[in-house]
Amino acid sequence: MKLLDPKKISAKLTMTSQEQRLSHKGMAHFAGTGPNGRTCRECIHWDHFNGSYRKTDGRISKAPCKMFTELTRGTKGMPVPDDAMACRYFEFNSSAPEKYRR
Ligand code: SF4
Repeated sequence: MKLLDPKKISAKLTMTSQEQRLSHKGMAHFAGTGPNGRTCRECIHWDHFNGSYRKTDGRISKAPCKMFTELTRGTKGMPVPDDAMACRYFEFNSSAPEKYRR
């Protein structure tokens, strides 16, 4: 049995494009396909209110993407890092948590 790289989304993806390399498991679509410069932390679908909004190791801890769950009809995805580049489903969250700095 061939084990997948932890960042690899599917055996059919070859990680040759920039979007594939920057994407994380649990994202609704490929990273970098959303608004330029925006991150998952600023997206209304990034579920940091679900008990996972903590500051650890100089960063806001990862949180699941609600759009992933919606698109997969209820499958809870892997938590996504706060600084993942936004995907095409990005919607700006006016109350997004501040970026944490040490
Ligand atoms: S930009 Fe929003 S919809 Fe896309 S993966 Fe990040 S949290 Fe999910």
